[in-house]
Amino acid sequence: MALRNILTKEQPTLYKKCRPVTEFNPRLHQLLDDMRETLMDANGVGLAAPQVGVLRRAVLVIETNVPEGEDEYVIELINPEILETSGEQDGAEGCLSVPGEYGLVKRPMNVKVRAQDRNGNWFEVEGTGLTARCFCHEIDHLDGIVFTSKAERMLTEEELSSGEE
Ligand code: ZN
Repeated sequence: MALRNILTKEQPTLYKKCRPVTEFNPRLHQLLDDMRETLMDANGVGLAAPQVGVLRRAVLVIETNVPEGEDEYVIELINPEILETSGEQDGAEGCLSVPGEYGLVKRPMNVKVRAQDRNGNWFEVEGTGLTARCFCHEIDHLDGIVFTSKAERMLTEEELSSGEE
């Protein structure tokens, strides 16, 4: 495995639409393994292939809503599509490609996604709260959408410094 460089918002690749994954081969597995390592290294909760310069429809989301005592785990979503959403949440959102900046983005509270795993098998998965936000955010990346374009407004320095840090 290897760390990959995370592109930042100045780079045009981030605004391009990604093509579907058609080959579930060792090259894809390498990409997913590298993305996992890169995500862990960056302490993020999600990462999309275009963020490491690969214009293919693959994302990782960390499921953080786990029972106490259980480990968080990474969900790999290949060619994901949102099937259903419900509810609404309004909160601060950030992105590894937009370091240090946060904005208020409205997202559904619950999201059901259909996707393929690394071997091409279709499955469905549901997320709530942060996981639902993350599904939407990462799938947006596959269509060249960075959250700053959806934010009602960006948070100011002052608001950021009054937060947890
Ligand atoms: Zn992002």
